[in-house]
Amino acid sequence: MKLSLPLLNALAVFLLSRFRAVVRAKGDAIEMQIIAAVFGVAQLFGAGIPSTDEFLTRYWTTLGPVVYPPAGVDRSAMGAHIRVLCHELTHVVQFWRDPLDFVGRYLTSKGRAELEAEAERGACEAWWILTGEIPADLGAVDITRHGYALDDSHADLTRDLLEQAVTSVRAGVLSTDVGIEVAQWVRANAPEAQAGTVIL
Ligand SMILES: [Zn+2]
Repeated sequence: MKLSLPLLNALAVFLLSRFRAVVRAKGDAIEMQIIAAVFGVAQLFGAGIPSTDEFLTRYWTTLGPVVYPPAGVDRSAMGAHIRVLCHELTHVVQFWRDPLDFVGRYLTSKGRAELEAEAERGACEAWWILTGEIPADLGAVDITRHGYALDDSHADLTRDLLEQAVTSVRAGVLSTDVGIEVAQWVRANAPEAQAGTVIL
């Protein structure tokens, strides 16, 4: 990563504004408290989802245009979390593209697997541009934590889609709005920091 932390923060601010997204604290947000409480109850029934405490302190969540980092993340310095932020911002892009369709797709396993793969691809493209590498944790459950409710066959679908994505990202092909905006911002603001070659 050649981009300095202040420039990463500037990139994060640019991306949030470009995609009409806002960041709110999870612990303060009443809707997050409700979701967390539901998770706490659901866990009693043995579902493969995080406990309330894990949900509030470990997982990133995006609802519509609102990104909620886990407790303890400095919301004024999101550059340190650019990889996961790019994942979440791809969900914001998916939401703005067609809000009702997004919610409908998210409620099906196949739709969710595809949306998660696209979000990870957004993060992968950004990481490629900034580091010249594919993220080592691509597709990790901790990051695609929306995937906690995916069964094995749909988790496989996410993995297959990501394998295809990696091949094209290595060839410099950008297909997500987030990846394209990151590339254009780096080219305009810090061209010396671009590590991975891309076709723009
Ligand atoms: Zn996700």
